[in-house]
Amino acid sequence: MGVIIALANQKGGVGKTTTAVNLGASLADLGQKVLLVDTDAQGNATSGVGIQKSTINKEIYDVLVNEEPVAEAVLHTEHPNLDIIPATIQLSGAEIELTPQMARETRLKSALADIQDQYDYILIDCPPSLGLLTINAFTASDSILIPVQSEYYALEGLSQLLNTIKLVQKHFNRELRVEGVLLTMYDARTNLGKQVNEEVQTYFKNKVYQTIIPRNVQLAEAPSFGQPIIDYAPKSKGAIVYTDLAKEVLAAHGKQEK
Ligand code: ADP
Ligand code: MG
Repeated sequence: MGVIIALANQKGGVGKTTTAVNLGASLADLGQKVLLVDTDAQGNATSGVGIQKSTINKEIYDVLVNEEPVAEAVLHTEHPNLDIIPATIQLSGAEIELTPQMARETRLKSALADIQDQYDYILIDCPPSLGLLTINAFTASDSILIPVQSEYYALEGLSQLLNTIKLVQKHFNRELRVEGVLLTMYDARTNLGKQVNEEVQTYFKNKVYQTIIPRNVQLAEAPSFGQPIIDYAPKSKGAIVYTDLAKEVLAAHGKQEK
């Protein structure tokens, strides 16, 4: 059974999508079968792995709102071992449409149950909110990976995030846990970077990944070419650190490279 990990932080621009795409591609390169699930109406994970919006037939919206078969929404990407359930702007209405529906919090969990055994990892890229789509992701997941951007007020909002995790544990998913906390866009040359690192270490202790993602211009460029960093710039610092992170994630689950 695949491990399901949600990438979440209700702040926008902290590196959720960059991490979903690049951790996903690096895990795939280490021989894991990986499914990305885009649950953000921005569709940045979708375009980040090279899926053209015009070629999308079924997407996550159809799975969640209309309960269409999940397998019909899965697309292969150019990257071996890496599949995606795409999202488009259509998803922006989903929270309102789901609200009066039955089992609205467990739609994603039920859908992924049908394909979970085909993958080693399923990574859910969450939107920048703690609404119904994020609740669906948390209900479906084994654990949550929290990217934290190394900036002023880095920890702001994290208590609401942890509260939401507690609520989902209480009502829908008792086993849900924090997978790890990832420092992103780190600049070791500044005192700010070091200070944020210390704060995050104090707050989350052994949950913080050894791997720290630095600011790296190629990581920001790769999405416009529709490629994960290991394809766009395999020798870049960004490619190296996301491979390090993938190895750390595998080790945490006692899994081997294939
Ligand atoms: P989120 O999904 O949390 O909103 P993104 O992953 O989309 O955040 O990242 C926000 C912006 O920062 C994007 O333009 C992305 O390309 C850029 N970015 C993310 N991580 C890095 C990094 N380590 N170095 C440089 N740019 C980055
Ligand atoms: Mg995003």
